[in-house]
Amino acid sequence: MHTPSASELLQTWERGAESSAAARGLRLLDTSCEDLDMASLLALPLGRRDALLLDLRKRLFGRWMHGVACCPACGATAEVDLDVDSLRQEDQAGAGTPDADDISIRVLHVSGHDEPIRFRLPDSRDLLAMQASEDAAGARRLLLQRCVPDTGGAPLTDDMQFALARAMADADPQTDLALAFTCPDCRNQWEPMFDMARFLWQELHAWALRLLRDVDTLARSYHWSEADILAMSPRRRQAYLEQCVS
Ligand SMILES: [Zn+2]
Repeated sequence: MHTPSASELLQTWERGAESSAAARGLRLLDTSCEDLDMASLLALPLGRRDALLLDLRKRLFGRWMHGVACCPACGATAEVDLDVDSLRQEDQAGAGTPDADDISIRVLHVSGHDEPIRFRLPDSRDLLAMQASEDAAGARRLLLQRCVPDTGGAPLTDDMQFALARAMADADPQTDLALAFTCPDCRNQWEPMFDMARFLWQELHAWALRLLRDVDTLARSYHWSEADILAMSPRRRQAYLEQCVS
C-alpha cells in the first residue's frame, strides 16, 4: 500500500463527491493499493476491504479515531476514542491479502436441512448492486440471490438465513464491527454498526475542507499556486500558516 499525496487525496475526494459509500470505499483503495486493479478491489470480501481501509486510515490520519453518535434514548451526543489496531479482527487467511480462496464458494450445513447451502462472501459488487433496491428488505433479498446462487431466488428459511449470516461473519469477521457507546447524559449503552468506508470518507471530507482553507490562506498571502502549496509537507505548510496569522 502506498500513502497517497495531498494532491491525490484531494482528487479522490473531489471525484467521489457524488458517489455512494461503497463507491467511495473503492476510490480510497484505488488511490492507495497499487498492486490491486479495480476488478480485484471489487471482488474483495468486505472484511478484507475494511482491513485495507483501516491500514489506509492509519497511514493518513494516525492510530486514534474519534467516533461521535447520537444517543437513541435521549438524543445526547456521545463520543468515543478508538484505536485503529483494536478494530482489527483476526481472519482466516491473514489481513489485507486477497487470495483465490476469498472468492471461492463455501459450503454451510444447517441442522435440520438435508441440502447444504453454497454461498460466497459479500463484496463491493454486491453493495453497488444493492443500491438500486428500494428498501432494506429488497436489498437483503438481492444480496441473498447474489451470494447464494443455488436457491434460484427461492426464499431461505429464517434459521437458514441466521446460520448463513453467522457463517459469513465468521469467515469475514472484519465486516461485523460494532462500537460500544455510553451516553454521557442518561448512561444508555448501545453498539451501532461501524461502516469503515463511510467513516473514513467523513474524515477525508473534513480534511479536504481544512486543507483547501489553508491553501486559500497561503495563496492569498504568498500568491503561490495550489499545486505548489499541496506539494509542501504538512509541517512546512503549517509553519507558513503560522506566519500568516502572526
Ligand atoms: Zn442518552
